[in-house]
Order: sequence, then structure tokens, then C-alpha cells
Amino acid sequence: MGKLTAEDLKDQFTAFDHFKKKLFDEAERLPANAEFSFSCNPGVSCFNKCCTDVNIFLTPYDIIRLKNRFDMDSEEFLARYTIMPMDARQSYPIVLFKMQNDEDKSCPFLDAEKGCSVYEDRPWPCRMFPIGKASPKEESAFPFYFFMREDVCKGFEEATDNWTIESWIENQEVGPYDEMGELFKGIALNTFFGKGQRLTPPLMEMFHMVCYNIDKFKVFVFESTFLDRFEVPEDRIEKMRTDDVELQKFGYEWLRFSLFQERTMVVKEEAK
Ligand code: SF4
Ligand code: SF4
Repeated sequence: MGKLTAEDLKDQFTAFDHFKKKLFDEAERLPANAEFSFSCNPGVSCFNKCCTDVNIFLTPYDIIRLKNRFDMDSEEFLARYTIMPMDARQSYPIVLFKMQNDEDKSCPFLDAEKGCSVYEDRPWPCRMFPIGKASPKEESAFPFYFFMREDVCKGFEEATDNWTIESWIENQEVGPYDEMGELFKGIALNTFFGKGQRLTPPLMEMFHMVCYNIDKFKVFVFESTFLDRFEVPEDRIEKMRTDDVELQKFGYEWLRFSLFQERTMVVKEEAK
């Protein structure tokens, strides 16, 4: 993909806003036991076609899985494989895969012969497709599933496999992604944003560090006075040193404490 211009980004956000509105107004809201037929394997005529020129939004947990797969620092991973478009309408930073600068604008992890080269650690959207999940911001509205039907995808037409949404999610091993996704939603869909409030630039940076740049957050936690200020059990501190997922869970608690004044952390007496 060539360098994105401000106009490109504006178009992307406008298209995304339009998609969301259409989705909430018109999509058939499906329960977890909804049945469908779909096949995705090297035998379908569209194999790999969905991995080119596509917007893949990455969750914080997606980034941990991928950067650890390559034993890579999160900062290097972000610089090499992602883009972070910003727009005045955004509540918080978002991260997308940077498509390659080849003719097809392919995903950096697409192997033309074998398909996805990071299959075991592929991100949430790649696992869920053709199922989408929407979480309306209104407190009274429930999350729901919907089908994503792309012209390029022949998986419905050439289907030989039958599923329910539930069995698809299990087959694609989405469980740990959803577990971390629920914790992330406690921040991304927080009522703070629902009330129209915005993060200041330094708080945006804090959000970005905890959610996307976990190795930088690790340095921040362990190489500053951070842990002198909060009550954190020793065994948890030890786990956080080696387990990025535990560190990210801790980071989410800190974000809720710092950004939304929730009581998710306990300040040490001597630090008050
Ligand atoms: S991560 Fe894998 S499945 Fe997802 S777009 Fe890239 S190549 Fe395709
Ligand atoms: S386009 Fe659809 S069926 Fe074809 S490889 Fe992608 S997800 Fe599978």
C-alpha cells in the first residue's frame, strides 16, 4: 500500500462510519446458535483473495500473539507491520495491518502458495470471518453477530461444511481472543467515551503504550518507581515479568484507574 494521505484516511473513516450505521440499522442480528454453511480451505476458488487490500483492525491481544511468534519487540512489530491512522472522531488509537506495496496490496503474512503464514496466531478478524460481532455503545443494547458477505469470498456459494456461529467460533479457537477482548471493551467502550469525553494527547499515548506497545509498558512498570506506588501482590509481579498477557491485564486495570477513576488499583499508604 502506498503511503496513506490525509484524504485517504478521511475516506476510510467516513466509509467505516457509514458501515457501522448501516450495520446497526439494517443487519440481521444473529444469535450464537444461528446456522450457516461455509467452507474456507485451499480448495475454494477464492483461496487467499481475502488477504489482499483489506483493513484488518488489530486488537491488543493480536499484537502480543504476533510479536511473540516472531520473538520481536512490540515497538519493532508496530513499526514494521502496522499503521495507526488518526482522526478527530476517534476516541482512542487504533492499529491496522500495513498491506504490502505489491500489485495486490497483500497482507505481510500472506504466502501465495500456502496461505496464511501466521495461521496459529492469526488475528481475531481473520478467525471470525465471515462472522462479525457488534457491540453497540448504548448500555441497553446487547452485542450481536452478523454475516459479512464480500463479493470476493465464495465460501458461502462453495460450502460443503455446516456450522452454527458457536461451533465456528470454537473451531477457529477464538476463546482466548474473546476473553482478552472483553477486558479491552471495559476500556474501549467505557461510558467515559459514551458521554463524549476525549483523552488528552498524553493520555492517548498512555493508552497506546498499554494496549499496543506492551514491551514499552514493561520497561515503564519495571524500570521506574511505578510499583512503589501501588499494592500489587509479589506473585503477580513475578508473573507479569514473563507473561505479556498478565501484564496486559494489569495494564487494563491501571488504565481504568487512571483514565476513568475506577477503583481497580490500590495506592500504597506511603505514596498517598
Ligand atoms: S494474517 Fe493471515 S489470514 Fe489474516 S489477512 Fe494476513 S494472511 Fe490473511
Ligand atoms: S475469500 Fe472467503 S472462502 Fe475464500 S479464502 Fe477468504 S475467507 Fe476463505
